[in-house]
Amino acid sequence: VKDQITEIRENVWEIPSSYKKEMRVPGRLYLSKKSLDELEVGAINQVANVACLPGIQNYSIGLPDIHFGYGFSIGGVGAFSTRNGVISPGGVGFDINCGVRLVRTNLTEDEVKPKLKEIVNGLFENIPSGVGSKGKIRLSIEDIDNVLDFGAEWAIENGYGFEEDLKFLEENGKMEDADSSKVSDKAKKRGIPQLGSLGSGNHFLEVQKIEDIYNDDVAKKFKLEPGTIALMIHTGSRGCGHQICSDYLRLMDKAYKHHSLKLPDRQLACAPWESIEAQDYFKAMAAGANYAWANRQLILHWIRETFENIFNRSAEDMDMSVVYDVAHNIAKKEIHKTKNTNMEVIVHRKGATRAFGPGRKEIPNEYKDIGQPVIIPGTMGTSSYVLHGTQIAMDETFGSTAHGAGRKLGRSAAKKKFSPEDVEKELEKNGILIKASSKPVIAEESPNAYKDVDEVVTTADSTGIAKLVAKLKPLAVTKG
Ligand code: 5GP
Ligand code: MN
Ligand code: MN
Repeated sequence: VKDQITEIRENVWEIPSSYKKEMRVPGRLYLSKKSLDELEVGAINQVANVACLPGIQNYSIGLPDIHFGYGFSIGGVGAFSTRNGVISPGGVGFDINCGVRLVRTNLTEDEVKPKLKEIVNGLFENIPSGVGSKGKIRLSIEDIDNVLDFGAEWAIENGYGFEEDLKFLEENGKMEDADSSKVSDKAKKRGIPQLGSLGSGNHFLEVQKIEDIYNDDVAKKFKLEPGTIALMIHTGSRGCGHQICSDYLRLMDKAYKHHSLKLPDRQLACAPWESIEAQDYFKAMAAGANYAWANRQLILHWIRETFENIFNRSAEDMDMSVVYDVAHNIAKKEIHKTKNTNMEVIVHRKGATRAFGPGRKEIPNEYKDIGQPVIIPGTMGTSSYVLHGTQIAMDETFGSTAHGAGRKLGRSAAKKKFSPEDVEKELEKNGILIKASSKPVIAEESPNAYKDVDEVVTTADSTGIAKLVAKLKPLAVTKG
């Protein structure tokens, strides 16, 4: 199978359209030779399958953290014309707008280290986490509609954070196309109690130190000061987004047959962009994305509160500002260059981070001449990274790059292989404090259950689909 794949340039590979006869465009993989050799064939087939969908433009793309997923691979991008293309819930994923928010502070490691235990306990107490965790606020049906329609804006209007925060969120924390009336009552019922909670497993809050800078000028523009403390939030749209995805997968399973689409895999169920089914899904997905932005906003607010209490200083005084907030499970309507013309496309980023280069209107003015910040978490025991978007990403990957290390072992395999006590000891040895709401989750989330994040960001950097800015080292983590 892999012998059909050809090298385009270093670490960029092409799956030719001849790989599968229904392919409309070739596939492109951004991988080191070693990662390509190790990659499961299933993920390659998924990239090829996506290339068979109607209206796909340029390439079906696999990023440096690609692995097998539901229908579409995780670490994958597919862009479909709004004229003759489709939208597919499987290309977004179950956790709609799962994403990462990075917050800077002016606190130093010396100031934070002695209080680390207090900080972790405070965060753990103040921000509900765990399987099916419930938030601390009471929402009415009217409130949840507002959350779904207005996202982080709703949170700010209700006193959770500063107006200024919105500027540094992808989409300013609100997708205009969102429509709460397209979200089922069941999804709303699941969403009401969970707003403002972290969830479980891979979702986390982390206290990090800015350890290394790769590009001084850009780090200055992003206001990332070496030696200072940063906070990283990783969570999404909780049960609400999951329910939206399930609801619309069921609908799409009927829709693709109704619209006579031939699919290589039923999990790619989709509908033509102009159809009612597609429009309804897009509006509901956007509402789910807004829920996630509101969720991360509430969590930020409680992080600020926790630090204010512990340091007896205001959040402003500690400069607890948002560096940026990225979505890594989402579909967006964007203008991109395809065969030398500008075209409106629906870009599906599933386990993929937007990496817009300089000049794009979507980027806040502060970063416009650099490109947007790209946040790539590693694991609780290794580094995480900040990169910036590039023109190469605009030209080749619809302005997208990797989103994480990617799992090497499934959850149950990891649970069998690692003991929570050993993982905890290993973290402790490296000076990392952990607090989790269950023991098994510590084993499931062992850094050894993930691939090498350094390899992922190095491949992104060397191929130019994002450039390295800073390395973040974990000091403490809370896991759901
Ligand atoms: P996903 O949303 O695809 O499950 O995860 C995104 C990425 O987050 C994973 O690929 C992994 O690299 C990273 N990750 C998972 N858990 C942690 C953690 O506790 N700390 C950090 N820094 N990264 C993590
Ligand atoms: Mn998630
Ligand atoms: Mn995620």
